[in-house]
Amino acid sequence: MTAKQHGYPSQATTWDAGWLQIATHCPSPNYGPRPDNTEIDLLVLHSISLPPGIYGTGDVQRLFVNQLDWDAHPYFQGIRGLKVSSHFFITRSGAIWQFVSCDDRAWHAGASSWQGRERCNDYSIGIELEGLEGLPFEAAQYTSLAQVCQCIRNHYPIRQMAGHEHIAPGRKQDPGSGFVWHQLQQMLNWPPAMFPPSTIQTP
Ligand SMILES: [Zn+2]
Repeated sequence: MTAKQHGYPSQATTWDAGWLQIATHCPSPNYGPRPDNTEIDLLVLHSISLPPGIYGTGDVQRLFVNQLDWDAHPYFQGIRGLKVSSHFFITRSGAIWQFVSCDDRAWHAGASSWQGRERCNDYSIGIELEGLEGLPFEAAQYTSLAQVCQCIRNHYPIRQMAGHEHIAPGRKQDPGSGFVWHQLQQMLNWPPAMFPPSTIQTP
C-alpha cells in the first residue's frame, strides 16, 4: 500500500471502531448513524476558526462538543445554539483532533450535493482545518492533513475529495482560495480525478 511506502502506520494499528489512533479523541454528542449500506466514499474539507481569524482558542473544540460559551464573544451570538461537528479538526500546528467516529455521521456539510448525490453528511468524512477562508494554511496542517487522508483511504473506499465550497456552492466558501489543492494532491499522489475539477490542473 502507498501508506506503508510513506511510513504511515499500518492499517491494523491505525483505527479502532472508526477512531483514528493518532488523533486526540474528544467525543461529540452531535452525530447519528449513517444510512444502512452506506459506502463512505467522499472526503469533505473545511476551514474554521473561532472567533473567525483567531487561532488556538480552543473554541472550535468547544463548539463541536456543545460547550462553547455563547456570551464569550460577540460573534458567538450569531451562532448561539448551533449544534455541529466534524470528524476531524487540524490545528495551525498540525495537531489532529477527532470528535466523531468515521463509522458514524457527523454534522459538518449541511444542505449539500456532490456529483448528483445529496446529503453529503450521509456518505462523507469531514475534516476541518483551523483557518479563515481566503487565507493560507500552515505547512504542518498539510502534513497532518495528508496523513489523515491517507489513513482514511487505507480504511474506507474513498473515491472523491471536495471542499465545502464545492458541495454547497453559493452557501459556503471554505476552505477557500488559500488552500492549495494541488499541493495536497502531490503530497498524497492520488489521481487528479479524485479532486474537484476546478482545483487541479490536469496534464
Ligand atoms: Zn465548512
